[in-house]
Amino acid sequence: MMMHCARVRDHGDADQLLLEQTPVPEPASGEVRVRLMASALNHLDLWVRKGVAGHRFPLPLIPGCDGAGIVEACGDGVAPRWQGREVVLIPGISCGECPRCLAGDDMLCPDYGILGETRDGTCAETIVVPECQLLEKPDAVSWQQAAALPLSSLTAYSMLVKAQLNPGETLLVIAAGSGVGTMAIQLGLLMGARVLATGSTAEKRSRALDLGAEHAIDPSDPQWARQVKELTAGEGADVVFENVGEATFENSLLALAKAGRLVTCGATTGSQVTVELKRLFFKNQQIIGSTMGRREDLTRLLSLQQQGKIHAVIDSEYPLQELHAAHQRMESRNSFGKIVITPWQD
Ligand SMILES: [Zn+2]
Repeated sequence: MMMHCARVRDHGDADQLLLEQTPVPEPASGEVRVRLMASALNHLDLWVRKGVAGHRFPLPLIPGCDGAGIVEACGDGVAPRWQGREVVLIPGISCGECPRCLAGDDMLCPDYGILGETRDGTCAETIVVPECQLLEKPDAVSWQQAAALPLSSLTAYSMLVKAQLNPGETLLVIAAGSGVGTMAIQLGLLMGARVLATGSTAEKRSRALDLGAEHAIDPSDPQWARQVKELTAGEGADVVFENVGEATFENSLLALAKAGRLVTCGATTGSQVTVELKRLFFKNQQIIGSTMGRREDLTRLLSLQQQGKIHAVIDSEYPLQELHAAHQRMESRNSFGKIVITPWQD
């Protein structure tokens, strides 16, 4: 039996997403095969496709970190209850046995990997994963919603927890239109914060306001940090949520209040930034790095989604055979929220 998939064999532009036929993978002991009903793109998909200087990805590779589907085959030793179940995939894979894993910090496991980055991912008709990567999909949650939630919500939630966002504090979300940005606005509001956001287009700013941001700032103003000061009685934001890097970092730090925390999970415009240390220590500020999140938190986030307290903001949907166009949409920086990939259409 064969299936359709997208594969990266060499790094480069969207033409390097090769649409191929490949044998349907067979689950080994402890693994299951899931028929994917939806998957979702993350910025990581662009890094996997384009390559990252100094980092080696295990090419050839099927990209795609997020997915949801139906368990259609189980290897030896897998609990029989999974057969036929509707599931959401946990994108992060760890050993489950080391001190980091046992402490619940699986994203710090020395063997940590991510679907579509360190092993074949979800841009395919089926995927084989270890049984421990499965969570039951709530019936009330659509395939698109289930697929679009995990990586971005887990990342955003973990960042806000590490930054110790408190009720009544001001959260500034940089790049409201990113997947993590749309989640950060919603989670910040749930945590009782006042939320400000930046958005590079009028459309994104309008949609950030629709999500509940109190003000949406245009970052094309080179001194946009001043607007944050004006909106916070001169204090600045208590928490700045960063994932853009070079293009925004200087202003993000300028917008930070005394005892403020800047937390970052990404550097989509570059990772070489300048930090004025005198300002940092005199103002008792913190810069916090974060990647992915604890797998146990994903259960909580799915529950919030099921209760309608958070949702994946979906920008657009493309069938698997139009993955090139989906990547181009993401690279255009015009998207707001998640780009969902639906099954191959014959
Ligand atoms: Zn481990």
